Amino acid sequence: MSVTVAKKIVSLQCGFFWEKADRSRGMPTIKWDIIQRPKNQGGLGVSNLVLKNMAFLFKWWWSLNLIGLESCGGGGVWTDIMQIGGKNKELLGVFREGLQLIVGNGNRTISMEVSTLTVGAGGGAGAVELPAKAYLNQQGQGVGVLDSSGFSKLWKGPTPPRVKLLCWFVMHEILNTRERLLSCGVVPQPECMLCGKLPESVHHLFFGCEHAWKVWSFVLKEFNVMWGWPGESLKCFESWFGRNVRNNYKERWVRYFFAVIWSLWKGRNKMIFNEELFSVKSAINEVVVCVNYWSRPLAPLG
Ligand SMILES: [Zn+2]
Repeated sequence: MSVTVAKKIVSLQCGFFWEKADRSRGMPTIKWDIIQRPKNQGGLGVSNLVLKNMAFLFKWWWSLNLIGLESCGGGGVWTDIMQIGGKNKELLGVFREGLQLIVGNGNRTISMEVSTLTVGAGGGAGAVELPAKAYLNQQGQGVGVLDSSGFSKLWKGPTPPRVKLLCWFVMHEILNTRERLLSCGVVPQPECMLCGKLPESVHHLFFGCEHAWKVWSFVLKEFNVMWGWPGESLKCFESWFGRNVRNNYKERWVRYFFAVIWSLWKGRNKMIFNEELFSVKSAINEVVVCVNYWSRPLAPLG
């Protein structure tokens, strides 16, 4: 794939996330860099196609033994392969640093010039050592380490993908709540749609609001447990999923979390877009319907 094609596909991927129905540019709520991370590190697993393409070009460049050759006729992908080493001096440095030669017992090693190779992956001078869970940004720099425990659990189970995606936004605290909309000048007041008392942040709407708490209380009563929320949405998710519940109830416990988040968001949006009143009773009914529906046995294929 040529670099131009790779960039065009990335542009289409961005458009899928941020463009409105009429193809005009929407308001990005989360950095593209976060979306590109693996799912267990808080992203959506949309890999960086430009970097991946570059890696494949480098593989061709290496396989064809093009070191030192930087120009060639032919155009298209062939030119990209030829130029990848010459154009990307920094990447070439990383490549050389990470190069390793496995000799084994030497029986199958025809010849080698050890003096020209850095033996041992990442062991050369200037090599950057990253923790096992580190991830790279678009420039190839290590930018941090995430606790992946919560995120890795998010995508498992039979909950519909759109509900999981909503929870992913909640965990990142990046929904268009009224607090955020106020900062963008979209609404004049930040007060919570449910209680009308405090600013509608993500954490308040789903965990801190008194009405949300009534819905959670219904679930807690079902399981006969006491509960208190930590101060961040990601921590709330992790504490719920880390709770020890009996094996028979584990899946149901997890589904209730998704169902409450889904129900609160739907109830809040109905107030805004359908001018319906929010009712704790309706929200609880929605939670029960969702959990039962997601728990139904799937029909056999065919
Ligand atoms: Zn509230």
